[in-house]
Amino acid sequence: MPQKSLEHQHVEFLLSVAGAEHVSITTADREQHARDQSFHQAHLPTAVVWPASAQEISAILQYANQHRIPVTPWGAGSSLEGNPIPVHGGIVLDLLRLDKILAVRPDDFQVDVQAGVRYQDMNAQLARDGLFFAPDPGANASIGGMIANNAAGTRTPRYGATKDNVLRLEVVLADGEIIRTGSLAAKSASGYDLVHLFVGSEGTLGVVTEATLRLAPLPEQFSAAVASFETVTAATRAVSGIMGSGMVPAALEFLNTAVIRELNGVDEFSLPERPTLLMEFHSATAAALQEELKLVNVICQGEGCVAFEAGLGREERDRLWRARHQTYETLVRANPGVSFLIVDLAAPVSQFPALVAACQSALAKQKMKTYLVGHAGDGNLHPLIPYQPEDEASFGLATAVHAEMVQAALELGGTVTAEHGVGIGKRQYMRQEHGQALSVMRAIKRTLDPNYILNPGKIFE
Ligand SMILES: Cc1cc2nc3c(=O)[nH]c(=O)nc-3n(C[C@H](O)[C@H](O)[C@H](O)COP(=O)(O)OP(=O)(O)OC[C@H]3O[C@@H](n4cnc5c(N)ncnc54)[C@H](O)[C@@H]3O)c2cc1C
Repeated sequence: MPQKSLEHQHVEFLLSVAGAEHVSITTADREQHARDQSFHQAHLPTAVVWPASAQEISAILQYANQHRIPVTPWGAGSSLEGNPIPVHGGIVLDLLRLDKILAVRPDDFQVDVQAGVRYQDMNAQLARDGLFFAPDPGANASIGGMIANNAAGTRTPRYGATKDNVLRLEVVLADGEIIRTGSLAAKSASGYDLVHLFVGSEGTLGVVTEATLRLAPLPEQFSAAVASFETVTAATRAVSGIMGSGMVPAALEFLNTAVIRELNGVDEFSLPERPTLLMEFHSATAAALQEELKLVNVICQGEGCVAFEAGLGREERDRLWRARHQTYETLVRANPGVSFLIVDLAAPVSQFPALVAACQSALAKQKMKTYLVGHAGDGNLHPLIPYQPEDEASFGLATAVHAEMVQAALELGGTVTAEHGVGIGKRQYMRQEHGQALSVMRAIKRTLDPNYILNPGKIFE
């Protein structure tokens, strides 16, 4: 097990590589890098370093590997499963200074970017070329953090998750070696797919310093639609209907009645207080968009939808998406003094109704508020489990409800995490989900990081 604290000579080494302004052992800086946005316990690193290049990272990793010092990469710290918490102390490598967009190639729909760039800032710049990077986790995450967590969000049905939009990576390995993997070609069958080994590896296999990302053209035409249903089952059946029709919504979000009620209260919406689907469609022409919306209407009516509103203009569409992105904050404000365990699960789309039912029942059995939201278009549900902070019994109950939900997802052929990653919170379920394949994952970890210095304590128990 790597050592937890750094000796004086180790700090001196870091100073010699990154310079005095870019190394900190102050309590304030260490505290800022001790917790992410989850409930997981904070752990202080001994030092925080802000390197400026792959070469500096290489020198630090080579040294850390020699001296068995844990190193945890850090993007924006917006994770929800404890992914960047330095549980074994050591060095946090904050990638903030790797903040350059290196090249945009509009004809190839590609951008070369350093890992510390925030994706919302990058998209603001790419909009000048009529392009955008589609994965959208809501929080202003870094590209490196999105790659490491394989982030996804609302636009996955049409554009895919981060893994579907990464072509090439520059990675610094645990021993300091710098490799480039992948190519600029749209597809490749050349050897093992190392790009997708690093995507989703949560900083446990290497530090990503640069990436070539696949971009999408900003849609010419778009429209939003809201459909309300009598029951959760009807709403979730409509999800299967829409996805099965061959249409590809840009976003297809599910919000249950309890969530709509809170949004109505705080944001002065007047949506019917029913299970609701919030959808967005992108198209090259207005005519194609009209046809799609007609078909969506027919499918929703077929499932007994009680209200359907489509063709919403940009202002209303932006307001709805703002509300969707701020759902969590809205629920927190509506429940002062209550904390929430944000759960991330997914099942096949056909099983989404069963997953919703199981999670709703797990909450209702404990007389908890039943807040359920999800990226329904890809079977991804985010139940929110309320608990009283500082109350062990209440937290224990929330954890038990969480475990029941996880079992339901696995029994339905799903996964314990669709987009937040394993981090600390999902480690205990890895054997159950992956069986013997987990041993192969461990073997890969041993090969690439034999001294377990990279983000130790994550993914594996
Ligand atoms: C309000 C809110 C809503 C969210 N909604 C969504 C959502 O809808 N979908 C979704 O997918 N996520 C969502 N998230 C989670 C989070 O934003 C994503 O997981 C995001 O990808 C984390 O990026 P980050 O830059 O903050 O990374 P961090 O949290 O800093 O780090 C994430 C992981 O990546 C590693 N890492 C960071 N940079 C590198 C690098 N350069 N090389 C190697 N490893 C690295 C870290 O060690 C850590 O394991 C949400 C978060 C919040 C707070």
